Amino acid sequence: MATNRTFTMIKPEAVAQGNTGKITDMIIEAGFKIKAMKLKQLTKEAAGEFYAVHKERPFYGELVEYMSGGPIVAMILEKENAVADFRKLIGATDPAEAEEGTIRKQFATSKAENAVHGSDSDENAAIECDFHFSADEIVG
Ligand code: UDP
Ligand code: MG
Repeated sequence: MATNRTFTMIKPEAVAQGNTGKITDMIIEAGFKIKAMKLKQLTKEAAGEFYAVHKERPFYGELVEYMSGGPIVAMILEKENAVADFRKLIGATDPAEAEEGTIRKQFATSKAENAVHGSDSDENAAIECDFHFSADEIVG
């Protein structure tokens, strides 16, 4: 997996609120190329596995319920310095702390329901891309 890739999900409440297009526009405007994209609803099992790193955290149960509660839009994004630049574009986990102009500042409703996911390292980006997409779903 190239290190110029990151993985994102538009989370269930943002999809349900009709913000998929606006968020996708912000991502493209920021210079990211979409290499793969799908609408899908995660099972509780899949959401639990995706967020397994947070298993011991008090919010894990609610996070799994939330992330499996409606469709998400998963994407693989490409750009130089993708992981760090995308984290900058989405802003802090808690929208109250997110900078103006970030996706979470504009679309997140709470620290839990914060509109988008972004990988936190090249290593996790590769794992997360593989978790959601097979090779034939990614454009060259
Ligand atoms: N989360 C939450 N409460 C918290 C911290 C995180 O509900 O106190 C949720 C939130 O949806 C967040 C996800 O768990 O996006 C993963 O947490 P992480 O710390 O990895 O934040 P992120 O990398 O998404 O900014
Ligand atoms: Mg994280």
